[in-house]
Amino acid sequence: MVVNSAHMSFSLIAMKEHKIAPELVKEVQDDFLRRKRVGYPLPFTSLFIKLGALNHSEVAGVLRRREVMARRCRECFRKTYLLPTERSSEIQCEHCFGPLWSGRIDEDSKRLQNLELLSRRARKESKPSLYVMAARIALELNRVDEARRLLSTALHSKPGYKPAQNLIEEYLPRFFPIYQNQYRNTG
Ligand SMILES: [Zn+2]
Repeated sequence: MVVNSAHMSFSLIAMKEHKIAPELVKEVQDDFLRRKRVGYPLPFTSLFIKLGALNHSEVAGVLRRREVMARRCRECFRKTYLLPTERSSEIQCEHCFGPLWSGRIDEDSKRLQNLELLSRRARKESKPSLYVMAARIALELNRVDEARRLLSTALHSKPGYKPAQNLIEEYLPRFFPIYQNQYRNTG
């Protein structure tokens, strides 16, 4: 049993920023795994506090900075944390081995604003390209239903619109069985 990327990332940032000795991090990890094994897990962060290595506000700071490294899985939508030198394009989701989105999760509020803006423009200008852009952002935000709706509208306003079909084929084939069959037929 090993610790996951959330713990690794947290430890690395804590070591770097708060000069925590590797031995202490090892102690926290061992303690964490021991508790998990016997069915009494304690959050990793609590163990740093418990051992007096970090105080609450330091933990909060490290957690905030760790979020910069979080990437969402395109398949299961769970988080994997990038470690130094790692790139989202080069590593897989640690939960399901799916591919990761490259964008930072902590920028979701910005994405949300973009999504609203693009959706509104798409409706106003009735442009399938805008619907597809909005759908892509919706997918990054794990708003699958919204993405489906946006792509359906794009295809309704322009049947067979390739960028919409590509996005469906890549991310939502099971929600659009008609298109899936169509791909199969045309190869
Ligand atoms: Zn995954």
